[in-house]
Parts: sequence; C-alpha cells; structure tokens
Amino acid sequence: MTATAPREGQLWSRCAGCATLLYRKRLHRNLDVCPECGTHARLGAPDRLRQLVDSGSFTTLPDRPAEVDPIGFVDVLPYPHRLTAARAGTGLAEAVLCGTATIGRHPCALAVMDFRFLGGSLGSAVGELITRAAERALADRVSLVLVTASGGARMQEGALSLMQMATVSQAVAALREAGLLTVSVLTDPTYGGVAASFATNTDVVIAESGARMGFAGPRVIRQVTGRALPDGFQTADFLLRHGQVDMVVPRRALRSRLTALLAAARAARRPEPARRRVEQVAGAARSEIDVPAVPPPGPTTAAPPAACASAAVPSGPTTADAGRPADNAVSDAWATVRAARHPGRPTTLDYLESAFDDFVELHGDRLGGDCPAVVGGLARLAGHPVMVIGHQKGHTTAELVARNFGMASPAGHRKALRLMRLAARLGLPVVTLVDTPGADPGVAAEQQGQAAAIAENILALTMLPTPVVAVITGEGGSGGALALAVADRVLMLRHAVYSVISPEGCAAILWPDRGAAPQAARALRLTAPDLCRLGVVDEVVPEPEPAAQDDPEGAGRLLRAALLANLPPLLEVTPATLVRRRRQRFRRFGAAGVRAGAR
Ligand SMILES: [Zn+2]
Repeated sequence: MTATAPREGQLWSRCAGCATLLYRKRLHRNLDVCPECGTHARLGAPDRLRQLVDSGSFTTLPDRPAEVDPIGFVDVLPYPHRLTAARAGTGLAEAVLCGTATIGRHPCALAVMDFRFLGGSLGSAVGELITRAAERALADRVSLVLVTASGGARMQEGALSLMQMATVSQAVAALREAGLLTVSVLTDPTYGGVAASFATNTDVVIAESGARMGFAGPRVIRQVTGRALPDGFQTADFLLRHGQVDMVVPRRALRSRLTALLAAARAARRPEPARRRVEQVAGAARSEIDVPAVPPPGPTTAAPPAACASAAVPSGPTTADAGRPADNAVSDAWATVRAARHPGRPTTLDYLESAFDDFVELHGDRLGGDCPAVVGGLARLAGHPVMVIGHQKGHTTAELVARNFGMASPAGHRKALRLMRLAARLGLPVVTLVDTPGADPGVAAEQQGQAAAIAENILALTMLPTPVVAVITGEGGSGGALALAVADRVLMLRHAVYSVISPEGCAAILWPDRGAAPQAARALRLTAPDLCRLGVVDEVVPEPEPAAQDDPEGAGRLLRAALLANLPPLLEVTPATLVRRRRQRFRRFGAAGVRAGAR
C-alpha cells in the first residue's frame, strides 16, 4: 500500500495509505509523506536527491547510457520501444542517477535508482553506471551511498543483466578492501537481483519506513506456497525484526542518519598502503572499460575458446541455432529448457561419483542448518584436491522433495560460503556445479535473509583468492545460480540453460501469458551456444547424444575432461591476478551499455 508521488500539474493527490485527498504542495513540503497517516509515497530519483544531499552539491557523473539491446529482445513490444517510452515518461536516461555530492558537508558518491523507469530494473547500463559511481568513490576516497528501488534484474537483457549483480558487487568489494564505507538505503520496493546483491551486501543497510525488500516477490511466494503471507511480510519492520537491516529510518531523518554515518567513516580511515594496493587492482579493472563491445575476448585468451567457437552459431542473436538441422530436437530453446529439467539428468552427487574421486561430504552452515539442496565437500580430480559445491536435485519425486528441488535455502548458501572460505584457507580450487530452478522462494527463506545470503556469496566469490570453475549442468536459475557461478571460468553443458528468470515467469510478466513460455525461452537467449556468444559462458561442454540423461556415465567423463582442460592453467596463476582477472571478466558485460563522458 504505497502512494505514488504526484505528477506535475496536479494540485491534489490521494494518499494510498489512508485515501485522504492531500494538497500537493503540502505533501511535497512534508517530503511526500502523508501528514495524516505517515505513508511514504515513492520518490523519483531527482526528488530523492533533492531531499538527501546538500543543496547544489550534486554533480552527475559524465557517463551516459548508450542505446543497447544486447540480445535483440522482443516480447509483445521490442525492448527499444519500452526504453524509449521509459525515457519519455521519466525524463531520465536510465533507471539510476549517479554522481557525487555532499551530505551534511561530507563528500560521497551516490547512485539513486528510480522505480518509474522500467521498474528500476538492473540492466547492463544501470550496473555499469553504479559501478562507475563506486569507482568514483574509490578514486575520491569517499563513502558510497546506494538508494535502491527495483523489481530486480532486467529480463529484456537476459543473463547479461544477471551478470550485473556480480559487477556491482565486485565494485562494493573494492571499497570494502579499501576501508571505505558503503551504505544502502532500501526504498520501496527493492526485490530480486538488486536485493540479492548490492542492496544487502554493503556495510550498513538502512530501510526507509514502509519500504519492502525481499528476494522473491509476495505474488511468487503465494503462488509457490499456496498460503497467505504473514502480516507485514517483507516490510521494513519485519526486516529489522529478522536481523536483515541495521535500522528503519523515516524519510525526514534519513539525511541526518547518513550524515552521522559519513562523519564516522571519514573520521576513521585506514592507513595509506593497504588502500593504494587495492586501487592498483581496481585501476587495472577500470582500464577494461574501454574494451569495445560484448562479446570481447576472455581475459586470459586472445580468442574465444575453441569449444565455444565450435558450439556457437555463425552470427547475430536472431539467427541462433540456425543451420544445424541434425540438432533440431534440442536446438529449440524450449526443448532445451525441458531437457535441462529432465529428472534423469545426472545430479551433482552423480557427477561426484562419475567425474571426481574420493568425495568426502561436509555438512552444515554452523549457524543452525544443513540445507539438503546444496551438497559440498572435498574431492579429487585426477590427483588435484578440489572443493566441490553443487545444487542437488534428485531423480524421483521423493528425492526431489527431500532436496527441495535443488532450491537452496539461506542455510544452503551459507554452507556454500563456509566451504568456499575453507577452500581458500587450504589453497584448494573450487568447482561448483549449478543446477537449480532458483533459490528457495519460501516464507522461511525470506525471514532468514535469502537476499543477503545470495548477495554475500556473490561478494565473497569476487574476493576469493583461489581458482573457481563453475559448470552449469542443468538449470541455471537466476540469483540462486549466480550465487555459485561468479567464477574464473564458467562452463555450461550443451543442453543446460542459464537465465535471469524462468521462461514461465518472464512470459507471465511481459506477454502476459504463461503459455508464451516457449517464446520467452527463445527471447531470453538462455542456451549454451547463445550464452557462449554473449561471453557469459566461456565454453560449452558436450553431452553424449542425444543428451546427458541418456548416458550419465558418459556425461561424467565429458565433464571430467572439460574440468581437466580448464582447471590446471588456473592453478599456475597467483591469487591477486586471479581476483583481478575474475573482476575484469564480469566487468566487461556493462561496458557496451555506457559511453564515457568527457572528464
Ligand atoms: Zn495517508
């Protein structure tokens, strides 16, 4: 129940909380908070900035979003038409305003999202702009303030928008390493990929009064659980009660709270040398901005890997899968979705039998749970000790239910995090096997901080000083998949899929008709050859004919061969170089979406 901010020219507006008709100027003077009931109306980014920063102190970053339609997305409207309409409707170039300013005379860099612009969705340009704001904070040695308002990642940019969760997170990581404060201000609503990355992996998380935040939206949770949601579910007070935010702050007090935080951070600064070292790493990453378009070459090779090239199709996203009649059965994106979900497909535990040796399973998050949807432990790969972490589904209904269909709870993500950190301490490389429809969208998962659990894993992987190879083996479902897939090398089985949203979910929102799932599957570019061409995936791992489920042992042998080709070279690279290259790898996805401005 949130009021919308009044538009220009309207004298009166009705509060969505108490239905009182309010004189617009009076409402505006009250920071768009209803004087009768206290409902906080949503604010556009320009109004938000006017309220937060010292008058006249805001300077927009010079970078401008370019016209991008990286996957040629069409639902009932082409994506560029939706972008044009959003620009005309808001007067903004994108769903975020970034710049530098002072708050209470303390300098900071800011990124303020605007929900009016395509639901504040996180696309390549938005991710790149926020990243540049973070880099500006690093260069100026000031704090970063992120004001979030978003429905999640931008479906119309497919997996490239999913990658932005990693891109922005690694910019947050660089500030963390430099001892600079990051603060996010959650405003209504903050969901999906934004909630599960930079909205919750900053140092301090503030929720504005009345804001709602969560990984899964209430509609999805009701659909999945078939139950009514608890009162006040996902509201700021709920988040505070469940330990997910530092404070709930009414709009009139936001400025003074930020001032106090910025003052504290400014007073206590880290010694110089540590910061300089980090900036050298970040500086190298920054130089990658000028690399031309997606898909650029991988950071360690001059050309796409041979396996990728052989699996990729000749040109242009719209010609995907053309000219390979022998592959017809699975060349259709929807057929690939069904193959990826096939219950006979080898699971992580199957691959641990067939592709690895001597698996020793480790359990538990050490905080109170052991999620059955994530398995992990020590194993050997042709003599190399490795840490393997993967989603676990099952072949029968009973197995699937016992494993929650491979949908990890926050405890599952925290178990994975514990094992990643253990691997780093022991100097072991990490191999992840990704096969999940998505993270668990339940009430308990939200109470236990699903968004922050995913966000923390993404952040940790951008900092992990040991090689990481991720393999999408079945379903790579959005943020739940990315929580195990921020890696030095990302491999993908030929009949796996990797997507920012399920085709059914995308169809329900954009067409809007769940029956349009096959069209949505095609539009999302979620197959291995498509993603290889976009640079999201480095190499396509072949499957036995016709697919892995028909010869699980053979699939295990092919996976083992792919890992043995990809892992050993990474063992030669120093930890600092690994981390730098991993960040370059994810950084490149936003570069095409933004033109550098004159400095
Ligand atoms: Zn009211």
